[in-house]
Amino acid sequence: MTKKKAFVVGLAGGIGSGKSTISKLFNQIGMISIDADDVAREVVEPGTPCLEAIVQRYGNAILQSDNSLDRKQLRHIIFNNKKEKTWLESVTHPAIKKRIEDLIQAADSKYVLLVHPLLFETGQDARCDYIIAISVAREEQIARVCMRDNCDEALANKIIESQISDIQRSELANTVIKNTGNISDLNAKVDTLHQHIIEVINEKKFTK
Ligand code: ADP
Repeated sequence: MTKKKAFVVGLAGGIGSGKSTISKLFNQIGMISIDADDVAREVVEPGTPCLEAIVQRYGNAILQSDNSLDRKQLRHIIFNNKKEKTWLESVTHPAIKKRIEDLIQAADSKYVLLVHPLLFETGQDARCDYIIAISVAREEQIARVCMRDNCDEALANKIIESQISDIQRSELANTVIKNTGNISDLNAKVDTLHQHIIEVINEKKFTK
């Protein structure tokens, strides 16, 4: 028996734009989400081929005492060295892509959300049938990131600058959620959007 094709809804947004918050609201109405950040952590867990390759390149010093990856140290290496960043991505991106694909195939909700901070930058937008971009005012985004991660404004700005802009993301998406109000505003927007996506799926005659 051939498996039905899954309808994939990409949820793209910069750091602190509200991806986790919005995906939880979709989960509450029964939609499964795949978080690319979680997958990125999973593929470098102890015992994985990716972690083995990283240790081969940087030595055991890249591991913490419990043999897990010292992500802070690795982030420091790649943030300051383009060649190393490219190398790391050449190792991890195919593994992330494969794991995401397996999770998409296993999902059995009406559609599956692919939550990704770098959806367009990594080319994963090509895997999506419909794309939602989250847009948020820069000051609000920075305030939320600093509050959540207890980091300073300069670091939050640096990370935001390394991602594509809200404007670019919004132009490439099918629709935009403005995460400017409170959580109850957001909930209402998610409900409306959910109905719209179901209509899109029905029009396209996706049978999932
Ligand atoms: P992302 O997953 O895109 O990095 P999060 O969903 O974690 O962003 O949101 C960043 C922070 O802002 C979190 O602490 C979250 O609780 C808060 N937040 C997100 N959306 C809202 C909102 N509409 N109102 C108030 N706080 C929000």
